[in-house]
Amino acid sequence: MQFKDIVGQTVTANHLTEIIDSGRVSHAQMFLGDTASGSLALAIAYAQYLNCEHRQHYDNAEGGLRADSCGECPSCKKFQQLTHSDLHFYFPNAATADVKGSSISAADFQGEFRDFLNANKQRGTLDDWYDFVGVEKSQGLIRERDADDITRTLSLKAYEGAFKVVIVWMAEKVHPVAANKILKTLEEPNPNTLILLVVESSEKMLSTIVSRTQTVRIPRLKMEKPAVNEEFNTLYVTWMRQLFKLNMASLSSWVDTMHSKSREQQKRFLLFAQEAIRDSFLRNNAGLPSKMDFGDEKFNASFPTMITERNIESINDAFNDAIYAIERNAYAKMTFMELSFRMSKALKKR
Ligand SMILES: [Zn+2]
Repeated sequence: MQFKDIVGQTVTANHLTEIIDSGRVSHAQMFLGDTASGSLALAIAYAQYLNCEHRQHYDNAEGGLRADSCGECPSCKKFQQLTHSDLHFYFPNAATADVKGSSISAADFQGEFRDFLNANKQRGTLDDWYDFVGVEKSQGLIRERDADDITRTLSLKAYEGAFKVVIVWMAEKVHPVAANKILKTLEEPNPNTLILLVVESSEKMLSTIVSRTQTVRIPRLKMEKPAVNEEFNTLYVTWMRQLFKLNMASLSSWVDTMHSKSREQQKRFLLFAQEAIRDSFLRNNAGLPSKMDFGDEKFNASFPTMITERNIESINDAFNDAIYAIERNAYAKMTFMELSFRMSKALKKR
């Protein structure tokens, strides 16, 4: 997980990389904010940056990302696959149909939790996780056995990275007995170990734990209005024009541009374009005023007439398939090419 893939948290990302670059890394930190705002994703990106062998710094004066992990070094590669031996996850767990018994712990669900994260669920909620793993009752806890595992993990030196990192997701779900054990660990830290408590509500946390951690507040995401995204506007207008001409050379360079973007960006663009097409359809067929302005009057006037009830359904299907594919890490170049062909075919049926 690189910071560049976490939409809408550039300011927080810059703050986090500064902490690391200045060498002021506190051994216990609390990432406080909604998981949906990217708190867990930020914790993983933070751990990856901390252990990256070639941290990247950008000369970016315009409020962009100032630093990120390289994404290429052996450490980053393992972090991105969530297989780094110095990255440990703890999270609420409970008995499921497959995993039963009195001594269950997060250790029993490591594979499932990584699958959950890999399924683009870094912003998933606790309920999403329970659904994913099949916990029937929402009685997930971080248990005494988990606290013992955390203590043991943090007592060992980093195996291959510079820092051993323990991420405790939804740490407010720590059982009181476990919380006291974790507190002991916080009081006697080992060098080059780091515990990140990812928390949505600090009121439910033991105050003695809170006072021993450095708090990083993760701001709630504001929804960006698609209509003001100029980059997406330009990409969209260029794309639609190419679909009419079906100029393979320029279409394929457009597809390359999309391919080079992050998954999150690709998905956001697809959602933006799908909304733009829906807007055109409503304007053309239901006489509703348009909410979109593509910054190009000719396009604003002519494009909506291309979307009719004869093609809207097949266009929508094509977009849904593409979004589904991107969410499941399909090869982006193929996805955007296939979508282009389906769009081009549908536009002829107006
Ligand atoms: Zn790296």
